[in-house]
Amino acid sequence: MNSISADFSDCVFVAVAAGRGARLGGDLPKQYQRVAGRTVLEHCLLAISRAAPGALIQPVIHAADRALFAAAVARLPASVHLLEACPGGATRQDSVLAGLKAIRERDNSRKIVLIHDVARIIVSNRLVENLVAGARETGAAIPVVAIPDSLRRQEAPLTQAPAGASRPVPRDGLYAVQTPQAFAFPAILAAHEQAAAAGHHDFTDDASLAEWSGLVVKTISGDPLNRKITTPGDLHMAELMLFANLADVRTGSGYDVHAFCPGDHVWIGGVRIPHVQALEGHSDADAVLHALTDALLGAIADGDIGVHFPPSDPQWKGAPSHLFVRDAVRRVQARGGMIAHLDLTVVCEAPRIGPHRDAIRAAISEMTGVEIERISIKATTSEGLGFTGRREGMAASAIATVRLPLAEARK
Ligand code: MG
Repeated sequence: MNSISADFSDCVFVAVAAGRGARLGGDLPKQYQRVAGRTVLEHCLLAISRAAPGALIQPVIHAADRALFAAAVARLPASVHLLEACPGGATRQDSVLAGLKAIRERDNSRKIVLIHDVARIIVSNRLVENLVAGARETGAAIPVVAIPDSLRRQEAPLTQAPAGASRPVPRDGLYAVQTPQAFAFPAILAAHEQAAAAGHHDFTDDASLAEWSGLVVKTISGDPLNRKITTPGDLHMAELMLFANLADVRTGSGYDVHAFCPGDHVWIGGVRIPHVQALEGHSDADAVLHALTDALLGAIADGDIGVHFPPSDPQWKGAPSHLFVRDAVRRVQARGGMIAHLDLTVVCEAPRIGPHRDAIRAAISEMTGVEIERISIKATTSEGLGFTGRREGMAASAIATVRLPLAEARK
């Protein structure tokens, strides 16, 4: 929670996401790799928008990543205020300048800019508040952390270094520099333009560029948890921290029934399946998605599908039921939660579900943003007994496992 009610309505972030992240390995740039159910980029954008409600975010992306970016941000809640992404440059410095220029074109009213590498996904409210306060006071504030380890200098790479190749370096007075780095917007934009005009393109952070141009930078206490994800080990550490925080594990169940009626197809789990009957209902009568919606709402104790989408409301007549699921997913995400697992059961004599199982899992994965490996769909008959046995209707049940942040549990 914000310790003071800071105002971020004149703040904007440059979210630098244009790098290739070669050190992490794999086919995807690191900002698009998934950890704890979301991409690194999503975690970062959520963290900074939670830490600075009301702030705008200017993403800077690699031109080749447009589709990856669009897919990632489509899953974000409306509380994340994104400006249209702009393409980055050849170096980090060039990418930041591209972001600053895009902000000048789009919303020149912002007084404070926080320049942040999206590979840092644990960004606390307190850190952002202190940075913004520092930048308001002095024009430039950056987070630094003391280095607890002894330090050595060695020119050769570790794998090739002979014995005796390194020597100790005193660590007194040395600090590691983090992002976000906060600046008065016009001053840092002018500094960047000055550096580019002078032929400099390789400043590795904005504080060193700012100082080169004559600005004075204030250091404030950073956060040891605000580590940059660079190696597979860093990604694993970030995953552990995210899961450790998402420790309030909740389970919700849902159940739904629809009657068969004359027709030639049914909707099951968002998939249209040809059948000798249809299902009767106000919406598309997709019992699986209705049970799933109720399971998600149950896990966060937020009513049921009828509360949020009353059958008496004509706007839901014939509605595709993925709308209900997407709304429930948004409610989970608005709480900072993650859907850990979905397990669904369909009860009917026909149609057969098996041939459509993976299509249904894929459809639910698309509408929830949950990996397909975390979605189970099972089918059974009722051995000819009861209304499902008499082929009068179909029943579906769902169990959703949701992880919410510990901060949520303390509310
Ligand atoms: Mg229903």
